[in-house]
Amino acid sequence: MEVALESHKPQFTLVVLQVTSLCNLNCSYCYVPDRRNQRMMSEDIADRVFKLTVGSPQNADDSFDFLFHAGEPMAVGLEAMKRIADRCIATALPKSNFRFSIQTNGVLVNEDWARFFHDYHFAVGVSIDGPALINDKYRVDWSGKGSYAKTLRGIQTLLENGIDEVGCLATVGVDAMQQPDAIMEFFLGLGVAALGFNLEDVENSNLVTSFGENRSLKQADYRRDLVEPFFRRVFELWWPNRHRLRIREFADVLRAAALRRYDPSYVRSPDVARDLGILTIMRDGRISTYAPEFAGARAPEYDDFVVGHVDAVDSFEDVKKSANFLKLKRDVTSGIAACASNCEYYPLCGSSFVSNRWFEYRDLGRPDTFTCEMMRKAAVDVCLSEVTRVYSLQAADSSSPNRSI
Ligand code: SF4
Repeated sequence: MEVALESHKPQFTLVVLQVTSLCNLNCSYCYVPDRRNQRMMSEDIADRVFKLTVGSPQNADDSFDFLFHAGEPMAVGLEAMKRIADRCIATALPKSNFRFSIQTNGVLVNEDWARFFHDYHFAVGVSIDGPALINDKYRVDWSGKGSYAKTLRGIQTLLENGIDEVGCLATVGVDAMQQPDAIMEFFLGLGVAALGFNLEDVENSNLVTSFGENRSLKQADYRRDLVEPFFRRVFELWWPNRHRLRIREFADVLRAAALRRYDPSYVRSPDVARDLGILTIMRDGRISTYAPEFAGARAPEYDDFVVGHVDAVDSFEDVKKSANFLKLKRDVTSGIAACASNCEYYPLCGSSFVSNRWFEYRDLGRPDTFTCEMMRKAAVDVCLSEVTRVYSLQAADSSSPNRSI
């Protein structure tokens, strides 16, 4: 298979701002290091980021998201967050086309925060794993108390304040995979627009999961016995409700499959596998790229995935000249090429699981991982077989009124 690596767009589409690594929760599977550190990004660093992005004519024609992420961004306080957002808006050139978004645990959301998100047009992602019995096993505060009640109240406050783009991220481990009905009943009743599933995986500072610590690459280690029935049941419950809840894992597969049907040469090109598709700016101004999960990780071979500093570049294009970026690019590219040559799922995946190669096997050039087997390959298999099944049932029933995805 041909690998059209050079056709990848050079421009970033996501700028992750790690304004603090501090977090008010201590979720057992969290990958973010340094979560008790109170320091936050200085306004000078934030200004520098905005000059390089919304203040640069080079980016004037591009649209991208600023994502406040990791640990709990709301821990910086509402006044500080407003100042940061206002400085961004003040720096932006008239043509700038950007959007604010945030990934939060929702615990600190109140009416004031919700109004701020509404007025500044934030897309808000809230991490919650499902009903209390599932969520509170892992998502706990520093005293071990479950976060469910506070997070639920936060989501309701967001919805009551008219924030349209509330999505949820649910992390699934061994327990959750056995409770798809409870999970879907919860999220379908919640009234949010979107849901994504993350695997409880070995990543950055999280070294152990309910799937076990040792990820020797044997097919027998993959938990298809858990993940396929999980996705299949989630799909069954989701399909009649697909117009009111977007499930990321299914939407990604169905979109790529539809594009490939239209153009058989189509290959998915996720931001995470594009050079500088995603830029992560750490609290102190260091720049990381490819997967946001790389930021803050220990990796002497790649200078801890640091490819520059916002004070040391005139434009993000300068990052591409750094020796460490070139080394990372070489190895990430070799992983993409390995995916393209070895994996039949590549056209619908595009080699999305860049960081998992490192965190699972310390090898960026290795194609398949536990995580992609569980989250991509299983999702593709379930999605395509379920869509085929649904449409053959509909074709058999000529009176069916619904023939569109
Ligand atoms: S499913 Fe895994 S092996 Fe296949 S293309 Fe995606 S990341 Fe690569």
